[in-house]
Amino acid sequence: MPAGHLDAAGCNVPADRVLDAVVGHLRLERERGGYAAVPDLTEARTALAALVGAGPEDVAYLESGTAAMAALLGGWDLAPGSRVGVARTEYGGTVLLLRRLAARRGWRLVDLPVDGDARVDPDGLRSRLTAGLDLVVVSHLGSHHGVVQPAAELGALCRAAGVPFVLDVCQSLGQVEVRGIGASAYVGTSRKWLAGPRGAGFLIVPDLTPAMDAPAPTLGGHLLDEDPVPVRGVARYESSEGAIASRVGLGAAVREQHELGPALYAHLAGLGRTARDLLDGAGGWRVAEPLGEPSAIVTLRPPPGDPAEHAAARAAEASLLVNVVPTARAPLHLREPVLRVSPPPGTPEETLRTLARVLAR
Ligand SMILES: *Cc1c(COP(=O)(O)O)cnc(C)c1O
Repeated sequence: MPAGHLDAAGCNVPADRVLDAVVGHLRLERERGGYAAVPDLTEARTALAALVGAGPEDVAYLESGTAAMAALLGGWDLAPGSRVGVARTEYGGTVLLLRRLAARRGWRLVDLPVDGDARVDPDGLRSRLTAGLDLVVVSHLGSHHGVVQPAAELGALCRAAGVPFVLDVCQSLGQVEVRGIGASAYVGTSRKWLAGPRGAGFLIVPDLTPAMDAPAPTLGGHLLDEDPVPVRGVARYESSEGAIASRVGLGAAVREQHELGPALYAHLAGLGRTARDLLDGAGGWRVAEPLGEPSAIVTLRPPPGDPAEHAAARAAEASLLVNVVPTARAPLHLREPVLRVSPPPGTPEETLRTLARVLAR
């Protein structure tokens, strides 16, 4: 791991094995020709789906989390007047997408109440469900704060009410436990906590219903010699052309995840706790989420006179990579940019101590 990398939530560091898998596949494509080097991704799909307790036939690869969410929601046949529950902590890209879909299709966005920690309130969801919802969209963890949403509880409430539940796992898969939630669909990305390569995102849809379809039909490859027939099942969402080497690399990254097992989640929660304890109060910076939150996404509110951009620049001078989260990342929640510190597994405590000194300067 490059020393000083504290931006796993932005773009994590792929392991050597992942890099080798990507480069190995690119070489194979050059040697054999891309279409002659098509990899069998069944095992990769099986391993990825297992992270949420689903099966290989539930997986569709796309190029990013944003593309996956757009394919899923953009293709969903919800009647005008349908009510979509979304919290104000939601990811900026999804807020934009839902606002556009609401404006064009007459969907109504219903605010899901959150508590003082910005955690979606299960009782609030229950009352919204009683009043009537047709779809619920929640980010398990946000890009802009480290609060882990009570996804299992929210999922159970939606299931009991017969309302589809879409869970954005872009920041949670590979960082916290995602099995046992029972969402209708999961939206994820490769390069964050799964530490896969860039250029791969995915949908996992255990509960495909007749109302769900891809916004554009796919031919499912270029090698068909019959009349075009739209692909069936979850594969309809998959872009047949894409960064195939990235999908291979993601497979290798997920295998590493399975080898590390749930101990990884405890390790990351511990790193988050250590980081918050060391950084809270340094130079007047304040941790935004509860100190003991079981995640390795740590966000810091600036003291007067030291904007996040300045602190990130000072960190860069000290060879530390941190992220400035702009308000657009969570436009209904963030009031000012925050500094995000997201240590990859194995980050030495000393790196976090160095950052505390940089903030205090
Ligand atoms: C990063 C992120 C996305 C979008 O994923 P991309 O691969 O960048 O398109 C969606 N939701 C959350 C919570 C994210 O952090």
